[in-house]
Amino acid sequence: MHIIDGKKIAQEIKDECRAAVARLAVRGISPCLAVVIVGDDAASHIYVKNKKKVCEYVGIGSLSHELPADTSEEALLALIDTLNKDETVTGILVQLPLPAHIDEGKIIEAVCPAKDVDCFHPENVGKLSLGRPGFLPGTPAGVIELLKRSQIEMAGKECVIIGRSNIVGKPMAQLMLRENATVTLTHTKTVDLALVCRRADILIVAAGRPRMVTAEYVKPGAIVIDVGIHRDAAGKICGDVDFAAVAPFCTAISPVPGGVGPMTIAMLMKNCVRDSGH
Ligand code: NAD
Repeated sequence: MHIIDGKKIAQEIKDECRAAVARLAVRGISPCLAVVIVGDDAASHIYVKNKKKVCEYVGIGSLSHELPADTSEEALLALIDTLNKDETVTGILVQLPLPAHIDEGKIIEAVCPAKDVDCFHPENVGKLSLGRPGFLPGTPAGVIELLKRSQIEMAGKECVIIGRSNIVGKPMAQLMLRENATVTLTHTKTVDLALVCRRADILIVAAGRPRMVTAEYVKPGAIVIDVGIHRDAAGKICGDVDFAAVAPFCTAISPVPGGVGPMTIAMLMKNCVRDSGH
């Protein structure tokens, strides 16, 4: 059984991005990511701090706009408009969730698609589903990189995904299709989920339910990728997969922490240094 080392793979990607930044610099291009955060959600502030740190490592400029929780939708739209027009800003990321009085969909659609490094804008989601070149969404693209860099073949494999969210499950299905896997997307209404999951050569879990995937969900020899992140009652970080119960049956498995988690920021950096975006 192989434990997929997401920390190591993410580091490789960050180093590749660092080299790409140096190549862009020669051509007079300097990527700069503007991060916008509204309110004082503690987890969001940690993510933003982390993103700034990684930007610094990779050599990308970063600007942060930290706005109070009572910021109006109009004020946020005005800021996005300014960032869209600012030629020194090449990427814009609005940290979610936003306070309830702000319409998230409206904000996502306001970001210029060419600067939408999160790949949330409907135009970029459309390109993704048409298989056209463009930004790739960080977490699902990170899963593809984990598999590729672990020499795991996807073409022709049965892939079952648990979860159909717009940020993980659905784009994950699109990206696995691009890799020529046979894809099944499951959710809370799926009948006999464990039986469906046992068909999987590659099982990708993004349900947001701590340790829900037990050995009965896994075909012996399968590859299991765990996207979930939780802190359990004892304060320990865990995923959607019961790692101790499942790992002995797998050919390869990604752990939590140290699996998919570090890949999201690494793939964000990849979007920030995308050559054709400038
Ligand atoms: P979400 O809550 O938006 O979606 C969860 C999906 O799982 C839904 O489509 C739901 O139908 C399905 N689901 C929930 N319970 C189920 C069950 N019992 N059986 C079958 N399907 C079920 O969550 P999300 O945003 O997609 O995130 C999923 C998990 O991944 C969370 O734990 C989140 O913290 C984590 N996550 C990690 C990263 C990262 O590693 N960087 C990024 C995004 C999300």
